[in-house]
Amino acid sequence: MTTPRKLTELNPRFIGAGGDGITGPNGEPVPERHGVGVMLDCPCGAVDSPLYVPFANPLDGGPQYGPQGWQRTGESFDTLTLTPSILRTFSHCGCRWHGYITAGEVRAA
Ligand SMILES: [Zn+2]
Repeated sequence: MTTPRKLTELNPRFIGAGGDGITGPNGEPVPERHGVGVMLDCPCGAVDSPLYVPFANPLDGGPQYGPQGWQRTGESFDTLTLTPSILRTFSHCGCRWHGYITAGEVRAA
């Protein structure tokens, strides 16, 4: 049993995509997107191994960006909930962290 941590303590930032100067494989411009996922310091404590979790329902109301997405509720780091649980299968830190982000709290499974 580990103590949950506030998401806000893990340097969270919402990630955008596309926009000015970004082109896709066909050379066409990629429209700018906002809040397609969240990045945070790894919950294991490795600040040099950020954890990125893409959203199934991005903040900008657009479609999922990329092949995988977690269902999101909440629009701020204090309220964010992601389902299902998150498992790090590969990361620089190698921690294989598995846990939950629920109502702005990060908790190991
Ligand atoms: Zn880690």
